[in-house]
Amino acid sequence: MSTPPQTPTALTVAGFQQLIRDRYLATDAARGVPGTFMWFMEEVGELATALQENAPERTPTDAQRANLAEEFADVLAWLTTLANIAGVDLADALTKYTEEGKVEGVKH
Ligand SMILES: [Mg+2]
Repeated sequence: MSTPPQTPTALTVAGFQQLIRDRYLATDAARGVPGTFMWFMEEVGELATALQENAPERTPTDAQRANLAEEFADVLAWLTTLANIAGVDLADALTKYTEEGKVEGVKH
């Protein structure tokens, strides 16, 4: 008898939002949307810096490459935090992009 193939545990948008909710909701809710938006924008600024450091005309170090990935993660984590305290289900919101006929052409 053979064992079924193992599938890797996929990280889902809903699972990530729940993880952020479980870990941080009490603190995030107490801070509120305005303060959390400031943290989010700070991370967007860090991502901008990391993108510049990793521009094609430069020769980024391994640490700079690693930092770029971390800043993408930070921005996504803080965006997810905002969704939690604003009462938005991200997986549901993203159906805007996944369901046929909802978004065509540019993103806005
Ligand atoms: Mg950061």
